[in-house]
Order: sequence, then structure tokens, then C-alpha cells
Amino acid sequence: MEKHNKDIHDSIERYKIRHGYTSFTPRAALIDMDGTLLDSMKWHTKAWHRMMTELGVECTREEFYLYEGMTGAATIDTLIRRAFGRPATPEEKTELYARKTGYFNEYPRVEIVKGAERMVRCLMENDITCVLVTGSGQPSNLARLDDDFPGGFPHDLRITSHSVTFGKPHPEPYLKAMALAKAAPWECIVIENAPLGVESGAKAGAFTIAVTTGPIPDKELWKAGADLVLPSMETLADLLPYILNEC
Ligand code: CA
Repeated sequence: MEKHNKDIHDSIERYKIRHGYTSFTPRAALIDMDGTLLDSMKWHTKAWHRMMTELGVECTREEFYLYEGMTGAATIDTLIRRAFGRPATPEEKTELYARKTGYFNEYPRVEIVKGAERMVRCLMENDITCVLVTGSGQPSNLARLDDDFPGGFPHDLRITSHSVTFGKPHPEPYLKAMALAKAAPWECIVIENAPLGVESGAKAGAFTIAVTTGPIPDKELWKAGADLVLPSMETLADLLPYILNEC
């Protein structure tokens, strides 16, 4: 644990220097949903691959891990441009996202990421305001958060695909989350699992913690701008008291 404490201390110092901040005093945690709270990415990638293949778009299931964090509309536009050399129409975005969501809902109920409940509880006990920041607009996953994390994510403290124009990796979602939490960047921790989400959080100026919960290698998360990369959500839940204490 001592080594971890030193890593945490060093990463906070590096973060302050990088942004020119004189302090880091967390009041809010801005938290991604898919792959961070819910172990849902394996079914999202399967649903995306199935829908796009039916459409005649050549793609691999693995590539959808790279688009994780983008809104559904942005993912559809990216692939339609690549396959057909034109932007997706608004009707296509709506229809294809609904089809992908339908496939996702056919698959088994996703589990909560191990350690996520403990992580959220620790934040709540330390009076840290939690804001959900997701590129998803999928009602089934958004609705279950009330049961999975009781009191953790009030509905007026949620940024979804419906709240943003650009979406991750643009800093917009995390900047809007900071405004909802009435917190400055140096008062915010971002908790993410994917490179595009990490990039968004880091560009917004928050202390950005990346947790590897899937096949994305550590180095991609560091490259995207993570201030700290941890091997599991359980590790973050273990270290969170030290992180909050270090500030
Ligand atoms: Ca994610």
C-alpha cells in the first residue's frame, strides 16, 4: 500500500504541475457508466458488430472498444462515412441506434463492475458529489442505476448523449458535469475506463483516473492523458480513501 501512496502522491503533483494548479481539493467525482460502473462493453461491442454487419459495413467486434465513450450517433456516422463515403442521415442515426439497443437488450443482464458499489459508497461517505457522465442514451442501463447505486446518481446530476453536442473525446461532457456539480476542474476527479473518455476528462482539466476493466491496454490510457491508471475497480475502491486524504 505504501508504494501506492507514493504513486498517488506523485500523480497528484504531476497533475497540478501539468495544469498549473496550486491545489487539488476534490468535491465532485464525474463517473463514466459503461465499462466503469457496468460490465456492459462485451454486449455493446457484440450488438454494434451485429447491427453494422447486417447493414453491409465491414468491421470487427474489437474496433468498437476504441469508439467506447462516443455517442451512438457519432459511432454510426464514423462507420457510415468509412463504408459508404457519406455522412449518416439523422433518420439513420435514430433507426440504427434503436436497432443496436434492441440487440443489446436481447443479451443477458450485465453485471455491476466488481468494486464499483464500494467505490461509489466511499465517495458518498466522504461528501463527494457524484455526477454520471456517459455517451450512452440507452434507457435500460440508465434506469437501473437507481437500484444498483441507491442515491448515488440523482437524475439532475447526469450527463448523457442527450445533454451534449460533441460528446467524448471532446471535453464538453466533463465541462458540463463540472457545471452541474458547481465545481472547478481542480475540484473534480474523473473515473473512466476508455481512451476517448480519459481524453475528454483530461482536456476538461480534472484529475483523471483510468481503470482497466476490459481489453484496453494501460499504455493507451496513459497516452490519452490519464493522471493515474489502476488495474481494477477494486483497487480504486481500496485506494480512494488515500486519494481523498492526499489532497
Ligand atoms: Ca466507458
